[in-house]
Amino acid sequence: MAFLKLAGTVTKRMGMKSACYMYPVVAREFTKTTRGHVELDSADCIYCGLCQRKCPTKAIEVNRQEKNWTIQPLRCIVCSGCVDVCPKKCLRMENTYSSSVTSKF
Ligand code: SF4
Ligand code: SF4
Repeated sequence: MAFLKLAGTVTKRMGMKSACYMYPVVAREFTKTTRGHVELDSADCIYCGLCQRKCPTKAIEVNRQEKNWTIQPLRCIVCSGCVDVCPKKCLRMENTYSSSVTSKF
């Protein structure tokens, strides 16, 4: 009985379009709401550090004295918390993924 059910499922699926993409031959399409990675427009940043304090994974580091803003992409869980809290609206979620990175941690 189970075999007949399996055979029926397999037969039905054979006529359907695959849900998989043949990446990288076929590029993945991103939607407008895809949370890919965080981008900073540094010209508007006032280095207040709110994004650093809001980040649950401590992915962002802000140095006000040196006017430096950095992010560790491997720590980011793309929650968008930093984007929501930024008073200057200079952070945004890009809907593409960042390039592959390696880390020492
Ligand atoms: S919250 Fe915005 S303005 Fe403040 S340091 Fe972060 S990116 Fe810059
Ligand atoms: S999106 Fe979330 S996890 Fe990523 S840097 Fe911003 S606050 Fe941190």
